[in-house]
Amino acid sequence: MTPPFSPRRFDTWFFLVNCPPKQEPQVVPGELIEGEWISARDAYSRWLSTDALLAPPTLHALSTLSRGLTSDLIERFLDVPESHGETVRRIEFYPNYISFPVRTPTRPPATHTNCYAVYTSEEILIFDPGSPYEDEQHALAQFVKGLVDEGRRVKAIVLTHVHPDHVAGVNALIISLGGGVTVAAHRETADALNDINVTRFIEDGETLSLAGDPSINLQALHTPGHARGHLCFHDHDRGILLTGDNIVGLGSVLIDPPEGNMKKYFDSLERMRSLDGVKVLFGGHGPPVANAYAKIDEYLSHRLEREKNILAAIRAGASTPQEVVARVYTDVSPKAHALAERAVLAHVEKLEADGVISRNNDQFVAL
Ligand SMILES: [Zn+2]
Repeated sequence: MTPPFSPRRFDTWFFLVNCPPKQEPQVVPGELIEGEWISARDAYSRWLSTDALLAPPTLHALSTLSRGLTSDLIERFLDVPESHGETVRRIEFYPNYISFPVRTPTRPPATHTNCYAVYTSEEILIFDPGSPYEDEQHALAQFVKGLVDEGRRVKAIVLTHVHPDHVAGVNALIISLGGGVTVAAHRETADALNDINVTRFIEDGETLSLAGDPSINLQALHTPGHARGHLCFHDHDRGILLTGDNIVGLGSVLIDPPEGNMKKYFDSLERMRSLDGVKVLFGGHGPPVANAYAKIDEYLSHRLEREKNILAAIRAGASTPQEVVARVYTDVSPKAHALAERAVLAHVEKLEADGVISRNNDQFVAL
């Protein structure tokens, strides 16, 4: 069963069949990008070397097959709870990076926030344990304890940004782990959190290193825009970028002033765009994004398009957020208009800073 963050929930059947000799695979246009016959072991090793993203059932199938066509093959296939209708909770799209989506009161269509566990043989970093709900906090704690019981220690809980759906489970997780866990965040995030004791500040450019095998180094990038103290984390060796809420796999990113700042958000997207060799984006909500640069470009062009239309609307006489929304956000349901007005204010701030409009008694005026 697909994980709860999926826009569409479905159950998948897998069939084990003997393939007659001399078969050739065919790529169905529009459905597949490429196709080839390779052994399960080769496919599994591509995942191990982060050359392939695999969804949990496929990963299970390939790791099971790669151990050989033994007489207990079927039993091994069925030897996980997910083979008996249980929903996937931990998702290891790439080795050593586990996403554990937890239910949160976040913005629709998202219903969950991705908590990530990045781990080696010795240490674990936990990113954004954001659920305020006891059952979800319990499930997350059990999952983390499982990693600890295998001989690791939690090096830190790391916060990408200040929003409640990313931090609400921090204290509960620390209590479940018996206390004494470092909480790390940007200083601007720490300053805005009253009831969470951030004990370590993460600076822009700093590298978080995990001891043990395999070695993992994550470079922190201060990328404000969605939130002042927002951090992304770049694993250069593996081509992974943890994007927090700057780019998400599901839904859209709200820039809500004064915490949000559109000009800084553009700069942050440009900075993410300038990184080398990013193969996948792991965002705060929804599935990972495999076409990283295309996705960042899509975000940039979407915002530029909005900005252009907002400027045109103001030049045509729209002088309040409501008037701009009525002209520009014609693709957005009326229920979302209040949020759209916040987004307009963010664009207006940027246009004002760019010197193309001004505000007189809260009325927008084109210059
Ligand atoms: Zn957020």
